[in-house]
Amino acid sequence: MSYRIALVGIGKIARDQHIPAIAESGEFELAATASRSASVEGVNAYRTLPELLAAEPEVPCISLCTPPQVRYADARAALEAGRHVMLEKPPGATLSEVHDLAALAASRGLTLFTTWHSRHAAAVSAARSWLSEHEIDRIRISWREDVRHWHPGQDWVWEPGGLGVFDPGINALSVLTAILPRRIHLAEAVLDFPENRATPVAAELTFHDPRGAEVTASFDWLHPGEPEWDIHLHAGGAEAVLREGGARFLVGGTEVASGPDREYPGLYARFAELLAAGESEVDLAPLTHVADAFTIGLRRSAPLFDW
Ligand code: NAP
Repeated sequence: MSYRIALVGIGKIARDQHIPAIAESGEFELAATASRSASVEGVNAYRTLPELLAAEPEVPCISLCTPPQVRYADARAALEAGRHVMLEKPPGATLSEVHDLAALAASRGLTLFTTWHSRHAAAVSAARSWLSEHEIDRIRISWREDVRHWHPGQDWVWEPGGLGVFDPGINALSVLTAILPRRIHLAEAVLDFPENRATPVAAELTFHDPRGAEVTASFDWLHPGEPEWDIHLHAGGAEAVLREGGARFLVGGTEVASGPDREYPGLYARFAELLAAGESEVDLAPLTHVADAFTIGLRRSAPLFDW
């Protein structure tokens, strides 16, 4: 038996990943969409989620692929209508709106799943196992890409709540918080804001680790050419690196784990598990680090940004 599911926000990530992942999944069937200007051939289409909820009482699952600033109202409406909800990353524009959704889902006995797709990259679990066996000395995240290539014309990333360079950077933080065997917290941040934009284009983060490891992250959204999505690990006198957003893990220069991109099939498989178990999965650790960066970060002015 498969779950009927509706997708909200038929944009870049819905087309690149969600629609193919649902199509290949034996556990979900795309039953409807809600999007103001797009639809999927052969699938019932609505302009808004409230219209869809009213017209499709037999669709129990809603997956939200809209930008974070507009996600809360839809998520709340879906839960109030008795539907299970899966949220793209970041799960919301603020921490408290996600706490509110989690409480609502719990009170109604519904599943809420805050997804972090990068945690499902092929080599992340190998890095987690390696770190668990070594005393950590140093971790250095280097997450650099060209926003003009990866987010062409997506103005919402520069609006309040769009996170700027933390839109990709939060993927690194989602991996970091998945592979570290303990909690850390942000100690210092420096954020560079283009003078004409509301969100940062670059960030330098320094974390406090209770066991004394040095943990830093460097995010840059104006990096030309090939992206760099790497996490360098120094532990127990050995060096390792989680490369390409978590797709490859190398220890001492030798590749020990890698695999094809199965991040979104992994997310839908996990959603199916949560539905079957009647559970939620709500992890706000990556968004908490980002919120802390906006709270304590030193703000510097950067050159104007235009597409
Ligand atoms: P997008 O293409 O710019 O937006 C998705 C869709 O949301 C739009 O096509 C639009 O569809 C709808 N929408 C509703 N309200 C909107 C508003 N106020 N502003 C803009 N669009 C609005 O974004 P995306 O790249 O798919 O990203 C969506 C989410 O997925 C983000 O949280 C992002 O971090 C995450 N994500 C993106 C990627 C990626 O590579 N792009 C990768 C992983 C995760 P209608 O106009 O038809 O309503």
